[in-house]
Amino acid sequence: MKAYRTLCELMDNPEKLQVLAKEAKVFCLLNGLPYPMRESPELATYAPVTLFPTPVRGAVFEQALAVQPHYNLLVDKISQDAAFLEEALSSTVLADDFTDRLFNIHKQMLAEGRASPIVLGINRSDYMLDQSEDQGGLLKLVEINTFAAGAFGTSDTIAPLHRHVLRLAGLEGLRSSVPDSNSTVQLASALQRAWELYARPQAAILFLVDDAEMIFFSHFKLINELRERGISSIRNNFEFVHKTGWLSSDDRLFVDGLEVAVVFFRDGYVPGHYTEESWATRLLMERSRAIKCPDIATHLAGTKKVQQVLARPGVLERFFPEQPQVVQQIRATFVGSYTLDQCPEGDRAAAMAMDSPDRYVLKPQREGGGHNFFDADLVRVLEEVGAGLGRSSYILMERIRPRVERNVLLRRDTPPEPCDVVGELGVFGAYIRAEGEMVLNVVAGHVMRTKPAEHSQGGVNQGLAVFDNVILCGGNHLPL
Ligand code: ADP
Ligand code: MG
Repeated sequence: MKAYRTLCELMDNPEKLQVLAKEAKVFCLLNGLPYPMRESPELATYAPVTLFPTPVRGAVFEQALAVQPHYNLLVDKISQDAAFLEEALSSTVLADDFTDRLFNIHKQMLAEGRASPIVLGINRSDYMLDQSEDQGGLLKLVEINTFAAGAFGTSDTIAPLHRHVLRLAGLEGLRSSVPDSNSTVQLASALQRAWELYARPQAAILFLVDDAEMIFFSHFKLINELRERGISSIRNNFEFVHKTGWLSSDDRLFVDGLEVAVVFFRDGYVPGHYTEESWATRLLMERSRAIKCPDIATHLAGTKKVQQVLARPGVLERFFPEQPQVVQQIRATFVGSYTLDQCPEGDRAAAMAMDSPDRYVLKPQREGGGHNFFDADLVRVLEEVGAGLGRSSYILMERIRPRVERNVLLRRDTPPEPCDVVGELGVFGAYIRAEGEMVLNVVAGHVMRTKPAEHSQGGVNQGLAVFDNVILCGGNHLPL
């Protein structure tokens, strides 16, 4: 308790904060937490980070880890249930061109009988701790990412950073409550396992990336880890694959002369990532024998619309018919989610949101941050779409009111001053299904991203959130 009070008191000591901030920045540069500068990717500064870890109840953190293998299974089961996907997305594909194009690739794969025999999934479930519970907040799911599950790698160095800061702050006793994330090793092991199942020692892993991606250092952590294991990677964009990629007569994918065992998509989750050529390239990769992470069906399983349908009564039971315990564990993390389709239920949800816009979030079928609507914007968009077809491209979600903490956000050109922040905990999961069997299903590390409390959304890439980690409280840890 005394240690935690000292941590809080530090916030009111500007001189000490200055010293700790300086040390933290040096630690980042010395220990693999650089960040590219927007003006030139050749230049790097320290990664945006919190000075201190964020208190999270140990039991809540354990809950998030424990439910992740179930989320992995759920996503995988959805991806194999063509009837469910078709029904769930039937209105969305009419209203949203992007989902429609993805869905058409999926349909084409089914028609051609190309369901992937081996699937590698790398997911990230994102949670906020709501403030309704005085015991430290309930774990509430913001979304599951089956495609854009980034921020791995970087997260691994945040725990050592925070332990370093705690030591410098004289809080040695708190260091053991900062859990490690081991995402690089875990994800490398999942990629390696998939690569081994592909069973062609000369084949490479393709990281399909966007050149503008800011968190690219984390890719190299993974690429280097794979190199250590004797596996080579190609890291390039859609255009490169379009120019140098082809399929052999037995559907093996070759890029730049190298056979590809696994395609790890880090690009292609919003319409802006695609030209007509990239759509053709996506199709080429889907058709290939290469193991896709994710395949098109798993990509669709992660849409906002599917996540809304999952919250309907009885839907989780469809996927876990004999496992009420699993259903209960997953459902405990849900908040309300409502259809906005052109039906009485959709009309009711829209009216409810117009009545109390502060209680909901309006979500289009987009990923990567910054696309949702809150408060007056939510009202404006709902007024614009009215009861028309366009409304079906959105879903409505109950708004989580996350716990507000004090912390110091360390960012380039920003003084290290304490402010009110809210955090979002991401838990990585990795799984492999081969010939109908789950041969891997694990938790693969975690990442916390924290932003000033006044922003309702915005990630690290948008310059709002910073990397963070948890410090466990309650039980054997420090009191909350
Ligand atoms: P994206 O795929 O763009 O990351 P998310 O569903 O994760 O979409 O939403 C982006 C951000 O919006 C989240 O990081 C969070 O800050 C905020 N947000 C999303 N859903 C909710 C919610 N139900 N309650 C409160 N904030 C939310
Ligand atoms: Mg998100």
